[in-house]
Amino acid sequence: MEMETMYQQLGVSPAVYQYGESVLRALRERFDAIDQTAEYNQGKVLAAMQKNRVNVTHFAATTGYGYDDEGRDNLERVYADVFHTEAALVRPQITCGTHALTVALSANLLPGDELLSPVGAPYDTLEEVIGIRESKCSLKEYGVTYAQADLKPDGSFDYDAIRAAINERTKLITIQRSKGYATRPSFSVQQIGELIAFCKQIKPDVKVMVDNCYGEFVERLEPSDLGADMVVGSLIKNPGGGLAPIGGYICGTKECIERCAYRLSAPGLGQEVGANLGLMPAFYQGLFLSPTVVSGALKGAIFAANIYERLGFSCVPNATEDRHDIIQAVTLGSREAMMAFCRGIQAAAPVDSYVTPEPWAMPGYDSDVIMAAGAFIQGSSIELSADGPIRPPYAVYFQGGLTWYHAKLGILMSLQKLCDAGLVVLPE
Ligand SMILES: *Cc1c(COP(=O)(O)O)cnc(C)c1O
Repeated sequence: MEMETMYQQLGVSPAVYQYGESVLRALRERFDAIDQTAEYNQGKVLAAMQKNRVNVTHFAATTGYGYDDEGRDNLERVYADVFHTEAALVRPQITCGTHALTVALSANLLPGDELLSPVGAPYDTLEEVIGIRESKCSLKEYGVTYAQADLKPDGSFDYDAIRAAINERTKLITIQRSKGYATRPSFSVQQIGELIAFCKQIKPDVKVMVDNCYGEFVERLEPSDLGADMVVGSLIKNPGGGLAPIGGYICGTKECIERCAYRLSAPGLGQEVGANLGLMPAFYQGLFLSPTVVSGALKGAIFAANIYERLGFSCVPNATEDRHDIIQAVTLGSREAMMAFCRGIQAAAPVDSYVTPEPWAMPGYDSDVIMAAGAFIQGSSIELSADGPIRPPYAVYFQGGLTWYHAKLGILMSLQKLCDAGLVVLPE
């Protein structure tokens, strides 16, 4: 009763609240399994911090060149141990996920080389990086070609097409773990491992990079445990734990990471420069919190799928599937429904709860995008957010939530707005 009153005060009607509770009752076992994964990954992070003797000196700010930045260097050792790689580059100078991926790609591809995506089209912003859409400074402009093997209609790998696409110029293979703005399934680490093994069997010296955005700590293994030469991601998604205000990471082999560092700063300088600007407490603490934060986001995603699938909307992943990232796509079928959904997410936020999200032409995307986010860190999508390109099938991509309770409120509010707009009628 008390709880219902609290939700009512937040704008959720008793009917929507009770509908949510009825959906939740069936999810207890799945939530327990998510907690177990978080507990395992918390152990992994703690072990890496203990092994590297993290102490207060690692939290000191550095400026200027950042020579002998022990906090930064040790954080990179911690990341390398968490991801079980030889080396890592973890920097505030990496401005976002697209930047981290660009560094990893352009550092490890030379003119005449070919990049292959065996999993269909990459994330929207990478189209310009690669040159699929023309852009200044694309890999294409530097003489790097691109090949793609599409997934089969059922979302599985097309091994024949992949075999046919690998040639003497294939230098790097890029695998995107999360679906991004596509309605294909996200891949499990196990599936990615099998794909890596297949590619390396055909061409043993080919390098494999995994775009790990949104996948970190969802499972007990990471793609770097199963043969990836580089895993790449953003610190304003999972591994920043909501505390990192900027940054990206690349974990991988010494050979690949050294090249990435030379590309990010300058040949010869590499990892020696790059002041931490006082961000080390947020980077260490964010990584420490990340497994728990990811578990809350996962519960939110599963709750959303179970709410919306029962109301007749198609969800990817569906209500019962295993999770390989924190993204939940809900196909709402119309521009109006996308806007109502996003209004609900926005209204549930701790920051900017009073604003109304509107579609806009976001840089790097080729159709208008609507975004709802009331985040402490601008654009942070480990915080509760929903977005999607305004184009058929009118799917919103929902993710994040620094706590499960906030994710829950956001989903209930989205449903409330859909009900208020007459776009959804709750079952009796
Ligand atoms: C978010 C994301 C990116 C790009 O990251 P930004 O930080 O938005 O530049 C790339 N790939 C995938 C799969 C993503 O989810």
